[in-house]
Amino acid sequence: MRLDVVSIFPEYLAPLDLSLIGKARREGVLDLHVHDLRGFAHDRHHTVDDTPFGGGAGMVMKPEPWAEALDHVLDAGATEGAPVPHLLVPGPGGVPFSQAMAHALAEEPWLAFACGRYEGIDERVYEHAAERMPVTVVSLGDYVLGGGEVAVLAVVEAVARLLPGVVGNAESLVEESHEGGLLEYPVYTRPALWDDDGTPREVPAVLRSGDHAAVARWRQEQRVARTVARRPDLAAASAAVGGLEDLQVR
Ligand code: SAM
Repeated sequence: MRLDVVSIFPEYLAPLDLSLIGKARREGVLDLHVHDLRGFAHDRHHTVDDTPFGGGAGMVMKPEPWAEALDHVLDAGATEGAPVPHLLVPGPGGVPFSQAMAHALAEEPWLAFACGRYEGIDERVYEHAAERMPVTVVSLGDYVLGGGEVAVLAVVEAVARLLPGVVGNAESLVEESHEGGLLEYPVYTRPALWDDDGTPREVPAVLRSGDHAAVARWRQEQRVARTVARRPDLAAASAAVGGLEDLQVR
């Protein structure tokens, strides 16, 4: 998968050299290109923002550097199999990012990201880009970040770990939170009895019983109980499609 990220803070994307994503890049699963938007602003100060029409606080990102940067991405990455990327523009007013969206994006050969800053990007850039490639404004959640880079880190990590070979054991992707509508059950490792502060804390006996059916039953009960407690919105959706049938919720 090819990834292009345009930002005024290219260094913000440095964590994409680490861990599973870094390994995926070194192994050629991910082909990441980070572009500095200021390189497409040609005045002496490489200006990328200006005051908003209509007044108000803050600055707005100018259209000209964005158009040039996105044209550069289009030219640099176009191949027969992927003539244009799917452009994702992070923004608090976008479609909420989800595991389902991560799965859909993992099927695409080429993603590009336009990281806004200040009060955002001149609206005409979205129209201009949409004439050239599919564009989706994507939100990380109902809060306001200072820029799109953190959203890109989150989206790239969520998508990349779904690509074949990125996560060592593909089975670990199956029972996770947000796969199948429920949150994941609690997990434990050694020691079976842990006492750090005078309170002995034991791993649930069922997990040490060797009874696979009982473990599966316990885990499913925990998934349901946790989802009902923490995310009643998900639990309601899951119940509606039958995911909570025949289960005891404590
Ligand atoms: N004035 C904008 C608004 O109210 O919609 C917010 C601009 S925000 C300060 C600057 C940039 O941060 C946005 O252009 C976007 O790239 C990014 N951003 C902020 N919140 C975000 C969120 N919840 N999800 C994704 N990106 C976000």
